[in-house]
Amino acid sequence: MARGWLEEAGLEVEVDEAGNLFGHVQVPGTGTRRIWTGSHLDTVPQGGKFDGALGVVAAIEAVERAGRGTVAIFRDEERGCAGGRALVSRGALPDAFLEVHIEQGPRLADAGAPLGVVSGVVGVSRGTIVIEGHAGHAGTTPMDARDDALVKAAEVVLRIRETASAIDGAVATVGELAVEPGAVNVIPSRVTFSIDARAPDSERCQQLIDALGFEPTYRTSPAQMAPELRGVLRAEIEARGLPVVELASGAGHDAAVLAAAGVPSAMLFVRSLNGGVSHSPDELSSEEDVALAVDVLAATLARL
Ligand SMILES: [Zn+2]
Repeated sequence: MARGWLEEAGLEVEVDEAGNLFGHVQVPGTGTRRIWTGSHLDTVPQGGKFDGALGVVAAIEAVERAGRGTVAIFRDEERGCAGGRALVSRGALPDAFLEVHIEQGPRLADAGAPLGVVSGVVGVSRGTIVIEGHAGHAGTTPMDARDDALVKAAEVVLRIRETASAIDGAVATVGELAVEPGAVNVIPSRVTFSIDARAPDSERCQQLIDALGFEPTYRTSPAQMAPELRGVLRAEIEARGLPVVELASGAGHDAAVLAAAGVPSAMLFVRSLNGGVSHSPDELSSEEDVALAVDVLAATLARL
């Protein structure tokens, strides 16, 4: 389907081994830097229409209008940017990358700004914490004689919240929890839970991991967006009489994978409505805001 959109826009289509899709155009007389723009088309189960797809559609429209650049449609982003990583590992990278994406949060709506320039993408660390206790009969073991793994885990979960709250820009989440043996009349003997910890720069990522005291089994580096590209996006937003808001991204993105590989990258966020809800069918941006994002992206492509 996306291939058809690229062809319809008059772009030259290419697919790489990882299944990433590209659409290229170069009208004579436009700039010579190899600029890519795009996002991903996959989404999460029960997801919304905007996460990923907005950046692909905006890229096709903007590249067609600007008459230059390459639309990059990355495969399999939600499970850890698989397409973007495969691409980076092969090394045929552009001179710059721009990604339009729905904000997936409430900050632009709170600021009354349709668009935002991303300053950087947080680093993500994930791991597992195991808390041991002793199983016992729920009826015959007195309260003062218990070693309840779930009660201890509950204290740790609260401590994780406090620890992350104390580091500026950091967040940490316990989203999965398994209780053993998991019976209504047995004191829990073991609890295993996940931890997902994020912070805007390497220093704070490490500070957070140390303070939480877990061993990450999955880790992505925080990525700073390129000052030059951010400057052009800011100027294009300002030229339209809109407020200029810069914000860090708390979610991972293909732009972070490219930035980490050394490609100067930037992201333009589009205001989320409905309180910033995302990974949900209620995810929404207005048509007016999307149109502004396409204008800014096309103008930025033309200037680079
Ligand atoms: Zn996304």
